[in-house]
Amino acid sequence: MNSGTFASVRELAFRILVKSANSEAYIEDQVQESGTGLDSRDFARLRYLVTTVVRRKLTLETVLRHFVKRSVEPDLWQLLKLGAAQILFGDADHRHADVNETVEVARAIGKSRWCKFLNGVLRNLDRAILTTTETSSLGRKVYPINSELDLRALSLDLFTDPDVDFPGYISEAFSIPRWLVERWDARQNRSEILRMAGWFLSSPRMCLRVNLHKVSREELLQQFEKAGFSGRAGNIKTSILDVNAASPHELPGWETGYFSIQDETAQHAAPLLDPQPGECVLDLCAAPGTKTLHLAELMGEEGEILATDVSKSRLAKVRENAKRANIDIIRTRCIARDGHDLPEGPFDRILIDAPCTNTGVLGKRIDVRWRLTKSDLEELPALQRELLDRAAVRLRRGGAILYSTCSIEPEENERVVESFLQSHPDFSCTHQQTFLPGAPADGGFQALLVFSNAL
Ligand code: SAM
Repeated sequence: MNSGTFASVRELAFRILVKSANSEAYIEDQVQESGTGLDSRDFARLRYLVTTVVRRKLTLETVLRHFVKRSVEPDLWQLLKLGAAQILFGDADHRHADVNETVEVARAIGKSRWCKFLNGVLRNLDRAILTTTETSSLGRKVYPINSELDLRALSLDLFTDPDVDFPGYISEAFSIPRWLVERWDARQNRSEILRMAGWFLSSPRMCLRVNLHKVSREELLQQFEKAGFSGRAGNIKTSILDVNAASPHELPGWETGYFSIQDETAQHAAPLLDPQPGECVLDLCAAPGTKTLHLAELMGEEGEILATDVSKSRLAKVRENAKRANIDIIRTRCIARDGHDLPEGPFDRILIDAPCTNTGVLGKRIDVRWRLTKSDLEELPALQRELLDRAAVRLRRGGAILYSTCSIEPEENERVVESFLQSHPDFSCTHQQTFLPGAPADGGFQALLVFSNAL
């Protein structure tokens, strides 16, 4: 695959999709693993092909069901989706080649008997796309091809009418489970939901947090430029956006800990907790340690941070990251899920970056939307409440807890905080912030809970 042509990258994409249907592993990890050895252009192509099929699953299936009237074997269904993804969302001039290259994959894997059927379905689909019509409004024939909400139209009414059933349309045209859209529709205005759904179609962008204790943002940007990379100052003073490197490892300053990969929303968490030099801080759900590093930087690398997590392998990443940044105030400890072995403290400050549904980052965690169930929204808040209780008994009076999630569901955010405050009258919430996805960064929630000094 070293010299991978598009056709062979497509075949590899197909193989990953087939494997992923029976695997628990996250799709991004599977692409990473299978794409080792590809040059950066082929790797980018592979990632695009696989993630588009997974991200746009519901749209692809809604459209394909019209053209495929009989049941087909699961692997052929994957190949149909792979071909259809290119035809529906890709470059209009490349559609003929897309059909041929998809048929070639069938031949290459010894499934020549699929070729005629594949060719027929994909050619019919190609003919159903109206290439000349300018489309500016959503409707039964219309779907977005990208996160900028550029629209394309079909000659057929394949989608639910957005004027009659808005959640149904958003679900099919933007590929988001209907039950999630219905939840948002009950509490948010529709233009906001449309904007969010568009943001979730975008490929993850690389956002850096500059360690201002080591280098200024301008200086780092200059170093990037000298090394042939570009980037721009982000929306907050520590962030850099739109870096054109395939991986952070290629950039100057990575090995010396001048920057970390962290979204702008997440960059707000540690400053809100405001840890001071010399303090003893607990980072309860720490792995892989992006926020742990930020805490250490804000403490001027003086004091002590205990980074705990239930995942031993992910805690190794915390140590790796601390080593890279040459930070030696972080200790890691793998703890039990019920937290019985969590050290007693007391700690001056505690960060709880809680496990959550991730509904604020559905664009990044591509397959999360298909894994989530309504019961997650019952189980996770119970765990989140439990984590807050565990932290509260380990905090010194006058100390503070920062509770954060990358969810936009009130059950995991405001409701958890309200329930905690009800049973902990000595605590008050002094600051609370909700971030909507794409406005301008990841979705999420952060609340600062302060333990009263008065006995
Ligand atoms: N704070 C991390 C960062 O900035 O890199 C991200 C943390 S991630 C959102 C949530 C973490 O909670 C996961 O690493 C997961 O292993 C951990 N976790 C899940 N259940 C836990 C529990 N019962 N106690 C402690 N950590 C838990």
